[in-house]
Amino acid sequence: MPDYDPNNIFAKILRGELPSYKVYEDDKALAFLDIMPRSPGHTLVLPKAAARNILDASPDDLAHVFKVAKMVAQGAMKAFEADGITVQQFNEGAGGQVVFHLHVHIIPRKAGSPMKPPASEKEKPDVLAENAKKLAAAIAAG
Ligand code: 5GP
Repeated sequence: MPDYDPNNIFAKILRGELPSYKVYEDDKALAFLDIMPRSPGHTLVLPKAAARNILDASPDDLAHVFKVAKMVAQGAMKAFEADGITVQQFNEGAGGQVVFHLHVHIIPRKAGSPMKPPASEKEKPDVLAENAKKLAAAIAAG
């Protein structure tokens, strides 16, 4: 497996070099909206520590990312009046991974409503901003 590349897009977001629609942050993890959402509220949860994917992540970071994933999923159920949540996580190119900093996808689902294909359409900034605000508030409310 290749080494971690500190210039990947998510590393730049974590360093504050690129913007994101943040919904949650603590000392070990960051969660922000996917800019090409497969459904409204599609969120990515990342460890702050450098890791390409689950293959090189520390078990503690992985456990924490999934704790945060659960919080985001619970918030998304409320914020988007979802009927369910799809969780996706890809490892290496052959496993479907495109950005090589570990991330977990939290995708709110409505019954009967299919997900858009991956990376199909960039969402409008005002929609992302509004969805991030709603989701951040629902997560903070617990
Ligand atoms: P994966 O590596 O899990 O296959 O896919 C990477 C995900 O990152 C895709 O869902 C894509 O829409 C999302 N993505 C790609 N570039 C950016 C970006 O600059 N900002 C955000 N927030 N998401 C991105």
